[in-house]
Amino acid sequence: MSIKDNIDDLKKDMKDYDAMLLAVTKTHGVDKIMEVYNYGLRDFGENKVQELLDKKDELPDDINWHLIGHLQTNKVNKIVGEIRLIHSVDSLKILKKINNRAKKLSIVQDCLLQINISKEESKSGFYEEDIEDIINQAKELENVKIRGLMTMAPNTEDVSVIRSCFKGLKKIFDNLSNLSYNNIEMEYLSMGMTHDYKIALEEGANIIRVGSKIFGKRMYKNVR
Ligand SMILES: *Cc1c(COP(=O)(O)O)cnc(C)c1O
Repeated sequence: MSIKDNIDDLKKDMKDYDAMLLAVTKTHGVDKIMEVYNYGLRDFGENKVQELLDKKDELPDDINWHLIGHLQTNKVNKIVGEIRLIHSVDSLKILKKINNRAKKLSIVQDCLLQINISKEESKSGFYEEDIEDIINQAKELENVKIRGLMTMAPNTEDVSVIRSCFKGLKKIFDNLSNLSYNNIEMEYLSMGMTHDYKIALEEGANIIRVGSKIFGKRMYKNVR
């Protein structure tokens, strides 16, 4: 299967849904990424700041970059203002840092809150019960805009576990949609990867983040 065939497959699976295909390019070189670019995709995701910035430098300017991995405080100044969307805001501390940097640059940085639905210790993200508090604090931060939520389902073969995780996030998303703050607006629901994007689409995802299904297996295990 070529990269083009893989994308065609994905598009077929997505045809009944109004969702964005985010190509996860981590570990892949610019040649392979250019194949995807030349086939029309423009939204690319990386989970490490430096790798993202290096690729951004080498690749065309009309790519929308997304950070999908944990953001360390010492990398905030490098990334804010450089990318379309930070999917992985997982603490109030990091959100405030992003806000401070965006203020310095006189911009508004779009972000998603990462939610740890399954409460796996290996995953980052807010617990459901902490969301109200984070929203209350986030609404005061004028240089960030919270445009939705992101999650990762547990890495399991048990489809019902995955589905209930996505259902849980969709429910939170719908509840938060009733809020009306200038800088908090539920538009994007980022969930689903290679092994579970079909379930995610069925449960309401409008951004799916797909790596292996497009590029093939990664050569080394990328920590997430
Ligand atoms: C790597 C990664 C993906 C894509 O994973 P695949 O299984 O290769 O599709 C999606 N989301 C996050 C947060 C990732 O780190």
